[in-house]
Amino acid sequence: MEEQARIGFVREMARKVLKKYGVTLPATPVEDIAKGEGFNLVYRAWPNRVGALLLRTGKTIGVNSSHHPHRQRFSITHELGHYFLNHRQDDYEKGITLDNPPAGDDFSKIQNTEAHEFASELLVSLPIIKEAYKTVKDAKALAEMFNVSPEVMFIALEKHKLLK
Ligand SMILES: [Zn+2]
Repeated sequence: MEEQARIGFVREMARKVLKKYGVTLPATPVEDIAKGEGFNLVYRAWPNRVGALLLRTGKTIGVNSSHHPHRQRFSITHELGHYFLNHRQDDYEKGITLDNPPAGDDFSKIQNTEAHEFASELLVSLPIIKEAYKTVKDAKALAEMFNVSPEVMFIALEKHKLLK
């Protein structure tokens, strides 16, 4: 059986999490959601290639503080994706995972694709961007509103077919 990323399921899961935390407006409170799930966020200036670390035993997400805040937010949501999507593998069970999204070394490609999609949807979900786009049409202004990089916003607008 060929395995495929469960994109529809993943987006649905991200929207469920937003609902759980009552998020209906940008920007998604990434840190509050992580803390709400019982995660401890640890910020350290690791080498550039390290995106984020997920230490499951201590329920800790390590964030690379030398990265741009937009990238830090994406890294946290990516790790939350692995958590909410119940991704399992040996290192994860051992309690530590070196993650370097979007192309992590330790997680499988499919798991990272799913975590990436989860992160994108948690940061810029379809219902919220659709509403915001009614009044703000400028991608750069929207990126600021959602506290994401212009690239993430552009991809979301394109994905949700809001660009004419
Ligand atoms: Zn990952």
